[in-house]
Amino acid sequence: MKKVLLARTEVDSHWVGDGFPVRNFFSYTDLAEHLSPFLLMDYAGPRDFPPTEKRLGVGEHPHRGFETVTIVYSGEVEHRDSTGAGGTIGPGDVQWMTAASGILHEEFHGREFAKRGGDFEMIQLWVNLPKAHKMDPPGYQEIQRRMIPEVELPHGAGSLRIIAGSHGDAKGPARTFSPTNLWDLTLNAKSTVDLELPENHTAALFLMRGAIKVSKSETITGPALCILDPAGTRLFLESDSAAKILFLGGKPLNEPIVGYGPFVMNTEEEIRTAIRDFRNGTLGKTFSSG
Ligand code: MN
Repeated sequence: MKKVLLARTEVDSHWVGDGFPVRNFFSYTDLAEHLSPFLLMDYAGPRDFPPTEKRLGVGEHPHRGFETVTIVYSGEVEHRDSTGAGGTIGPGDVQWMTAASGILHEEFHGREFAKRGGDFEMIQLWVNLPKAHKMDPPGYQEIQRRMIPEVELPHGAGSLRIIAGSHGDAKGPARTFSPTNLWDLTLNAKSTVDLELPENHTAALFLMRGAIKVSKSETITGPALCILDPAGTRLFLESDSAAKILFLGGKPLNEPIVGYGPFVMNTEEEIRTAIRDFRNGTLGKTFSSG
């Protein structure tokens, strides 16, 4: 059974633009060595937003060297980027954006949602790219709720949605650059689940809400990040109350991480190049009118 390496509940919160009140549970400057290929996780909300005509969010900004994965639980997120891609995603949907060599994008609350107002909750992950793919062309996958397989867990314990990777015979729709498992788990109260995981892969849980006992040892109450030992292949969870969990798993890249704000590369030189490319407009073409 996998051992718990670390559980974290107390984290700083800050606003990303004026739309995303986030709690940062890890970043590439902190804990990234335990979480490869994952670089960062921001948990936005849950928060009730009053109806508004304003555009809430963050305007055009760059990324290079990784992917941003946005999972919406409540509300809507609207996106546009320098490749011409764009769209609005809602509850259960996922946006998987490959910044790679460079992208400019904007992230706002969906227009209709903003007008209506209501509860907003999402997670954004940054997923690192292998060195060999950091300068690939950028891309965008819109993964709608109906494209994500959902499997029932044994004994009525709950359900598991496979966003990326596989569980049993079910495969997630996301195309990834390294072996990655990203699962959205819902556990009923007083339930148990025994998950089989690849040996020596990164394994971590983000408990959004509820209370669970992990590996018969540590009890955590959400929101909490729990990092597990890569050794071992079994993860045993017991829920006290109903629980909502995002499971993060993947094969560690074992490559150097050098980051500066929205750029995450392998060397200082590549960071200097990214800053220069952004300044001279070759990282991505500006598309926003302001
Ligand atoms: Mn962004």
